[in-house]
Amino acid sequence: MKGPYPISHIDSRITKISPGVYILSQDGRVAHYVGRSDTNLATRVKNSLTEGTDYKYFWFEYATSPMQAYYLECEWYHKYDPPNNANHPAAPPGTYWRCPVLGCEWS
Ligand SMILES: [Zn+2]
Repeated sequence: MKGPYPISHIDSRITKISPGVYILSQDGRVAHYVGRSDTNLATRVKNSLTEGTDYKYFWFEYATSPMQAYYLECEWYHKYDPPNNANHPAAPPGTYWRCPVLGCEWS
């Protein structure tokens, strides 16, 4: 995982057009929100900022496929228990991928 970076550095840090997973934070310490993109991580991170929760920092990791992004998102979701994620990560429509975390109701 790379970061934390100031939120103004999205374009200078996320330079590949790639699937990936990210964390948004208001203080650079607490993981407030975990998300992923199946296609273009930088665009997804910027879109998520419009939800207006005053995020100032981010972490990210590229993924080699949408499936790997989903699995990593699930792992971070369970590891950090982000307070601004209302729901468990959803697999892309048309897939039947299950959460890789043992004991999860979505596994
Ligand atoms: Zn899970």
